[in-house]
Amino acid sequence: MRLYEKTASELSEMLNNKECSAEELCKDVLDRINETENKVGAYVSVSHESALENAQKIDTARQRGEKLHPLAGIPIGIKDNISTKGIRTTCSSKMLENYVPPFNATVINKINNAGMTILGKMNMDEFAMGSSTETSYMHLTRNPHNTDCVPGGSSGGSAAAVSAGEAIVTLGSDTGGSIRQPAALCGVVGLKPTYGSVSRYGLIAFASSLDQIGPMGKSVRDVAMLQSVICGHDKYDATSKAIEYPDYASNLKENAKGLKIGIPKEYFGSGIDDEVKDSVMKAIKEFELNGAEIKEITLPSTEYAINTYYIIASAEASSNLARFDGVKYGYRAENYSGLTDMYEKTRSEGFGDEVKRRIMLGTFVLSSGYFDAYYKKAIRIQNRISSEFSSAFEECDIIATPTVPASAFKIGENINDPVKMYYNDVCTVTANIAGLPAISLPCGMDSKNMPMGLQLIGNKFAEQTLLNSAYTYEKICGGFDALSKAL
Ligand code: GLN
Repeated sequence: MRLYEKTASELSEMLNNKECSAEELCKDVLDRINETENKVGAYVSVSHESALENAQKIDTARQRGEKLHPLAGIPIGIKDNISTKGIRTTCSSKMLENYVPPFNATVINKINNAGMTILGKMNMDEFAMGSSTETSYMHLTRNPHNTDCVPGGSSGGSAAAVSAGEAIVTLGSDTGGSIRQPAALCGVVGLKPTYGSVSRYGLIAFASSLDQIGPMGKSVRDVAMLQSVICGHDKYDATSKAIEYPDYASNLKENAKGLKIGIPKEYFGSGIDDEVKDSVMKAIKEFELNGAEIKEITLPSTEYAINTYYIIASAEASSNLARFDGVKYGYRAENYSGLTDMYEKTRSEGFGDEVKRRIMLGTFVLSSGYFDAYYKKAIRIQNRISSEFSSAFEECDIIATPTVPASAFKIGENINDPVKMYYNDVCTVTANIAGLPAISLPCGMDSKNMPMGLQLIGNKFAEQTLLNSAYTYEKICGGFDALSKAL
């Protein structure tokens, strides 16, 4: 068995027992990248040299007997909208094609402090807008389970890399499902943490009130370990919450007995593939057989969630992306006459179609004649969705739903039909709208031999309960087979 096939927690033990070195591990994953990257396309850039340098530094520290973090020397891939000092950070956009940040995101400082080995930057939908990684200006990323299919998005590179063994763990970002949806389509585990638990400082903003950075990996333990590294209060992010964050991985335990699981009927309606429904219901049955209590619940405003999300997210995006004007940093058009023409040409040439669509939609819903009719109404529904979740969590500990309506679709199938593409987020956007933590877990393969995802949603800052429930399901399944066998 090669090293890249193992989980971070297994590798952590091997490194600690000196059964392998961080350098051997780093080289094995870099070799794997060389072997499969032409088929998958998960990376925007690979940092061979600095990765090996870090691995050697960790090996020397270990030889000297220094006390190291359990994840020291574990190779990680970073979504390309998270700022890395001295490493190009593109958001997979022409606008930032040559942008090299002068500072690190807080999560990157934390990952460096833990001694993890950063392998490179992962491909994504442009500015994290999309569900298939097809809106990337860079190149396509393919699903390792079937390279004719999309890996999901927008963190498609992060999900595909884990499933292809091109990284042991990765970071993604999730505004409306961008960690969980690609995790589901690639058969890996992905956590969107509670809004405010992971600093957004240095995450290039899409929709600031919804964005969260989160971990992806082959197992619940790996995701729990990485979440403990990245979470915590940060004075550079005013929305980050100052509370005690538990050591999720050390506290992991099975909790099926007496666990109250809510099943909202709105997430199992028409539009959800029968095979997906069946596999999620089967997973719920397994919980029940192991002592969980299953409750039917109702979240009536779910039907408005997609509309609400696309109004709020686009409104915020239109404001956040105003900074890309050719003046401060990023792309500037070559030929122009005067300032206004420079702005116009820069933004017309620098942004792709989907980003332009969101900016126009966002500007429209915020404009004076339409603000009340769209934006204000969306905020009212956001409050309703949040309070429906709060009531639900009075009677249950977690909520179980499908992550995505169906398994991965073919490349090109939805790219010209934005509404169909947006529908992919129908089960995931509510957790962002309400600021809740949610995790996607592999729950079997469909008849096309493609992975399907089970989503568990938790109460605010109840990551431990959520991770314990996810861990329980993983134990019931006998572990996840996250690595693609198709490559
Ligand atoms: N697919 C959703 C969108 O296109 C979610 C994106 C995300 O979570 N970053 O907006």
